[in-house]
Amino acid sequence: SRLADKAKDQFLATMSHEIRTPMNGVLGMAETLRDSDLNPQQREHLHIITRSVESLLNIINDILDYSKITSNSLTLESTHFDLRQVLGDVYQLMKSTAESKNIKLIFDYPEGAHSDFLGDPTRIRQVIFNLVGNAIKFTEKGHVKLTCRVNPAGGQENVTLSIEDTGIGIPEDRLAAVFHQFEQADNSTTRQFGGTGLGLAISRTLAVMMGGDVVVESVVNRGSIFKVTLTMEE
Ligand code: ADP
Repeated sequence: SRLADKAKDQFLATMSHEIRTPMNGVLGMAETLRDSDLNPQQREHLHIITRSVESLLNIINDILDYSKITSNSLTLESTHFDLRQVLGDVYQLMKSTAESKNIKLIFDYPEGAHSDFLGDPTRIRQVIFNLVGNAIKFTEKGHVKLTCRVNPAGGQENVTLSIEDTGIGIPEDRLAAVFHQFEQADNSTTRQFGGTGLGLAISRTLAVMMGGDVVVESVVNRGSIFKVTLTMEE
C-alpha cells in the first residue's frame, strides 16, 4: 500500500541519515590521521578503513535508490547542463582507478557534437559512474572506453553512451540476469569482486525514466559493451 511504502521510504531515509553521520565522522578522522606520522603498514590500514567506509556509503545509496524505485518515489531533475563536462568529470575521477590496474581509460566525445542538454546531470553521472566502475572492476588488462554519440537530428534516444571493456565478459545465458536486482553474472564471485547487484538494476531504471534503455553485448574473456540510450531535449 502507499502508506506502507511511505513508511518504508521514511524509515530508510532516516536510517541512512543516521548511518551516514557516524560514517562521515570515521572518514573525517581517517583524513586527520593521514596527515600524522604513520608507518607504511599503518598507512595501508588507514587506506583500508577509508575504502571500506566508502563502499558502505555506496551500498547505503544503492539501497535508498532501490527503495525509491520500488515505491515509485524516485523523481528526476530537469536542468540545463553540459553533457561533455559531466562525462569528462567521470573520466577524470575514474582515470586513476583504471591506471592503478594498468588499464587505459579512453574518453571519446567528438569535437563539435552537441553538449547542452536539459535533464538530470546527477543521475546521468550516477549511471555512467556505475557502468565505468563495473567495466574497470571486471577488466584485468586492456582498456575501458567511454564514447558519446549525439544524433544531430534529435528525436527519441538521440544520445548514446557506450562503455566498452576488454574484461572477463558475461556468459550469454546470464546477459539478461545482470539487470535484475541482487543478481550477479556468476553468483559465486561476490566475495572476489564485492558489490550488491543493485547497480545495473538502478542504472537501467534511470535510463528508462530518461526515455531510453541500457543494453549489453558481451563475449566471455573478450569483453562487454554496455549501451545507454537517452532522450534528451537540447
Ligand atoms: P554489482 O557490480 O554491485 O555486483 P551490478 O548490478 O552493477 O552489481 O552488476 C551485476 C553483475 O553484472 C556483476 O556482479 C557482474 O557479474 C556483471 N557485470 C556488470 N558489468 C560487467 C562488466 N563490465 N563485465 C563483466 N561483468 C559485468
